[in-house]
Amino acid sequence: ITATISLPSLRHNLGVVTHQLNSISSQNNRKRPFVWAVIKANAYGHGITNAVHAFSQADGLAMLDLDEAIQCRELGWQGPILMLEGFFKPSDIPLYEQYKLDATLHCREQLLMLEHSAPAYALNAFIKLDTGMNRLGFEPAEFGAAWAQAQQLRSRGRLAQLGKMTHFARADEVSAYTGEQLAEYLRMTQGLPGPDSVCNSAATLTPSVWQALPDTNAQWVRPGICLYGSTPFVSQSADALGLKPAMTLSSELISVRRVESGEGVGYGQMFRASKPMMVGIVACGYADGYPRHATTGTPVCVAGVRTRLLGRVSMDMLAVDLTNIPGSVVGSPVVLWGENGPSVDEVAQAAGTIGYELLCAVAPRVARIVV
Ligand code: PLP
Repeated sequence: ITATISLPSLRHNLGVVTHQLNSISSQNNRKRPFVWAVIKANAYGHGITNAVHAFSQADGLAMLDLDEAIQCRELGWQGPILMLEGFFKPSDIPLYEQYKLDATLHCREQLLMLEHSAPAYALNAFIKLDTGMNRLGFEPAEFGAAWAQAQQLRSRGRLAQLGKMTHFARADEVSAYTGEQLAEYLRMTQGLPGPDSVCNSAATLTPSVWQALPDTNAQWVRPGICLYGSTPFVSQSADALGLKPAMTLSSELISVRRVESGEGVGYGQMFRASKPMMVGIVACGYADGYPRHATTGTPVCVAGVRTRLLGRVSMDMLAVDLTNIPGSVVGSPVVLWGENGPSVDEVAQAAGTIGYELLCAVAPRVARIVV
């Protein structure tokens, strides 16, 4: 089983984002937003090293884990790095200084940690406002005090540039809530200097959102999932957005068998043949990261032909329908998702989840090939 990571597709997807930002900005005489390529969680399963190479044209990188950030610096990345959740303990701060990492400040505890740390280097930071996600960020009632405290830290040389940010809860769907969050952000940050950052993939690809921000400040967008060729939208495919899959999960048939009418296939006999048919067994199961919740009918490609999963996914294997693929033999190639196969989003939908989860969940035992 192999996960093939395509650097050209990663580059292409970043190009789709920057091209759209460039053309809409220039049509509207606006400054083009800067792009942080979000590479948290091992670059959504694609590998930090691959992401650093493929996203060399991004304006910055955004992530979560300190060790991944340090890895980026050791790989030679010299641009800005935003840490999406900031530091968690005082001993993280010297590492932020050493590796020149920009912090997200979302709670009072972080401001206190900064107050009590010995400044060696003034950090860049973004103060996060909670506009309704109710995950991280200062509530509107406490934002003014947090901003003032951060300005004090700035005047004492503890912070350098100070920006503001928020995160949307429902930008992936058509929801009035995104407009409400945006309005709250604009109300709370009106007149405050420093860069803004509000857009994930879905909002970055919805120009009306980032165009609503004042052009007086620099703006940083934070696309993640779209860079990997998976759609950020509930009702628009990655293909329709011009994105290319950056990960292809592939394997092969390890058994081909005839199943008689009335016989069941796999654990629980969740699929039962209604007529004699050929069934293929694929070397890929939930221990590889293929979702166990995928059900009969989930698309799979065998020897370039689209067919369907049958019954329950096992730990190391799954069954597919070979009715329309008569030449299939042991060793026939199988694409579970990616190039020349179903999209990761189609498989995710059939399993009741999202592409993000499948991409992040590909197991370490799956060989990675970089092309
Ligand atoms: N910004 C923040 C704060 C995030 O937590 C994430 C990911 O969840 C992103 C940006 C990127 O989101 P997406 O992958 O939907 O583009």
